[in-house]
Amino acid sequence: MIMAEWSAAYKNGNTLVGNAGGHPRSDGGHPAQVVTILRGSTRDTVAEGHSPALLVHGGAWAIPDGMAEAHVNGVRHALAAGWKVLERGGSSVDAVEAAIVMMEDDETFDAGRGSFLTSDGRVQLDALMMDGATLRAGGVGCVERIRNPIRAARLVLDESPHVYLVAEGAERFAQQHGLPLCANEELVIEREVQRLREVQKQAVAGKPPEFFAEHDTVGAVALDIRGNLAAATSTGGTLNKTPGRVGDSSLIGCGCYADNESAGVSTTGWGEPIMKLVLAKWAADRVLEGTAPEAAARTAIERLETRLAGHGGIILLDARGRCGLAHNTPRMAWALKNAQGESAGIEWPRG
Ligand code: ASP
Repeated sequence: MIMAEWSAAYKNGNTLVGNAGGHPRSDGGHPAQVVTILRGSTRDTVAEGHSPALLVHGGAWAIPDGMAEAHVNGVRHALAAGWKVLERGGSSVDAVEAAIVMMEDDETFDAGRGSFLTSDGRVQLDALMMDGATLRAGGVGCVERIRNPIRAARLVLDESPHVYLVAEGAERFAQQHGLPLCANEELVIEREVQRLREVQKQAVAGKPPEFFAEHDTVGAVALDIRGNLAAATSTGGTLNKTPGRVGDSSLIGCGCYADNESAGVSTTGWGEPIMKLVLAKWAADRVLEGTAPEAAARTAIERLETRLAGHGGIILLDARGRCGLAHNTPRMAWALKNAQGESAGIEWPRG
């Protein structure tokens, strides 16, 4: 689809699917909320003054109507899994991990089993997680035998002096730290075998790739009751990619970033332009300078489009619980929960 067609579709579309909480408030809104949990018979107040918030995405592209419901359900389930952690006083790092695992296990998305295939028919996965309190980060790239690469990224964050491990070394590290490995074939599904075959046939016939190619990468940003931010992104990358290619998603500052002093950020879309602009860090820096997350998200996507003709989407959350989301693709799957309620959709309502 060319840009002019997309603009028309976007203006005419603007359908919110399954919006339970009305228009999402991006300003954090309410004063700090006290969260209480029950441990056995003792009532234990775990609130430390911050109202938790969680924003997840399931990729930005021209999601067809027939796939909208699966995308909204997928991000909703991820939201529920992450929120369960936050509401009982768990950390933002645990919350984003829980949310991402849910989407990696959902074949709707380009993460975990069911991801796009490399040009030689394999699944190669990338993931990154970052803790905004400590700036610790853990990433894995080109792993082929891990069902939930975000769990491996978490292990790198927690257990390794390094920030990033790739391929066999990353797999060995994960296994040594208790993560079971699987065969690559277990991550490959028939739908993706057919899809690869089709795109390779079209390439041979000289047909250019779709303008808004499918971008089903998943991401999450969370704020916990201690006021700590975390971000995580997980992907199978792009369809028919060259084996060994790493995109933006798992590169620190490109597809994912978190700093309590600025924002938690996750991006999705055409990875190469996002990498060149180090887009997640670029957006976080705008928040550090005083820009509201909503405006930072918008300007980041404008920059992606004007500077490099890139396309994609971004989510941001700051330590005050203010959030932002923007995409220049026709649709982007998202779900948000904070003190104001819960909402989800495949287009971000503007204005
Ligand atoms: N950004 C990802 C990549 O280029 C793809 C996506 O967002 O779906 O690997």
